[in-house]
Amino acid sequence: MIETEKLQSAARKGARQRCIDPACGASFELNERFYVCPSCGGLLDVVLESSTDPDPERLRDLWTKRLASFEPGDRSGVWRYRELLPFAADAPIVTLAEGNTPLYDAPVSAAYCGLETLTLKHQGCNPTGSFKDTGMTTAVTQAVILGARTVVCASTGNTAASLAAYAARAELQCAILVPRGQISHNKLAQSLDYGAAVLELDGNFDDAMRVIRELAEDESIYLVNSINPFRIEGQKTVAAELLHQRGWRVPDHVVVPGGNLGNSSAFGKGFRELKDLGLIDRLPQLSVVQAEGAAPFAGLFGSESDVLTPIEHPQTLATAIKIGAPVSWKKALRAVLESEGSVLSVSEQEIADAKAIIGRDGVGCEPASATTVAGIKRLISDGFIGPDADVVAVLTGHILKDTDYAINYHQEKLYTHDRAPDKTKEERRIAATYSNPPARVKATKAAILEGLRRHEQEHAGDY
Ligand SMILES: [Zn+2]
Repeated sequence: MIETEKLQSAARKGARQRCIDPACGASFELNERFYVCPSCGGLLDVVLESSTDPDPERLRDLWTKRLASFEPGDRSGVWRYRELLPFAADAPIVTLAEGNTPLYDAPVSAAYCGLETLTLKHQGCNPTGSFKDTGMTTAVTQAVILGARTVVCASTGNTAASLAAYAARAELQCAILVPRGQISHNKLAQSLDYGAAVLELDGNFDDAMRVIRELAEDESIYLVNSINPFRIEGQKTVAAELLHQRGWRVPDHVVVPGGNLGNSSAFGKGFRELKDLGLIDRLPQLSVVQAEGAAPFAGLFGSESDVLTPIEHPQTLATAIKIGAPVSWKKALRAVLESEGSVLSVSEQEIADAKAIIGRDGVGCEPASATTVAGIKRLISDGFIGPDADVVAVLTGHILKDTDYAINYHQEKLYTHDRAPDKTKEERRIAATYSNPPARVKATKAAILEGLRRHEQEHAGDY
């Protein structure tokens, strides 16, 4: 008990949880275990009411000094920026040296989009291969502070893989709940290796959500679902790392994929807080790209309505963003409107081709990430982004998260979802515009040289 009290003091002074609905505005102690606002059911934000060090020049110097340190808290690309986080200096941080992801100059992708230059921020280079790690390090640290023994999420995707890894680091039990038959293989493999209990429920997704709400009443269990505000806190530091890597030059546009919209919410919060602290003097325009079969946020943005209409059966091969009812849409909308960004959707064909093009820059990503390059190409042809603009695309997952997709594309065996009974299989086939299939050759020098010559000829002028 004494230990728990000591841990609870790890909350930073002046940090609180606050309901994002301005009509409610209720606020709560940081360590009150709410998942939504108990007054109105709205989403919660973590707010820092006072900054420990408001001098932007000193913060920049401090963060640069930490790049040369080997302390785990300084090596982490999240905790390096801990002045932005709602934790005290002695918080029991759970880290896998997350963040520190590269910024790549991507000339092939730039030319494909019609841009002079394009930069890719590859969040798939995190420890478990997706951007989720930057939020999981803070959420699991909060679980430790609250004295939880078990952490729970309902997913077998990138979230589950990430939570399983951080729970293992913290020596917490990890439960991954999923309706029977909804297991996705690539990411499941990670959760199993990290020692999580993967529990397949007899029931549908609604049953899973109901049972999760019941579990949350147990004090020893902490929910790490997508509305957990401590995940957004970690993820928002990516905005600081991005700007730090660019010498604090603010890009004109930052473009992110849109699924559950936690990522866009976090970037929006991160940029806004950096501006409030005087570290930057303007916001980049934040745009969100969805897959057209799972685009409720793009639907909302293009309409007169101010309420998101969920999509009952979202469909896309970009499984990481196959979400019909994104819980963080209000936070994401706030971020897009405040920065004068845009929201759009792109087709399965556009996603597949953009992914292959990103590959030609030597950068591998999962399908959801490629919505960014596909979306930028559209925004340029629409005139929303100028050809000389300074643009950053955020890639969210590693190519090894979904190898079947890549192999099928290159072998012309990639088909859109099955829920199109009016279409024949051939009509559902995604054209392998930039395909690069393997070729069989005899084991002779001449055959290999001939194979190389043919490969070169076939791919000349691909893009
Ligand atoms: Zn409220």
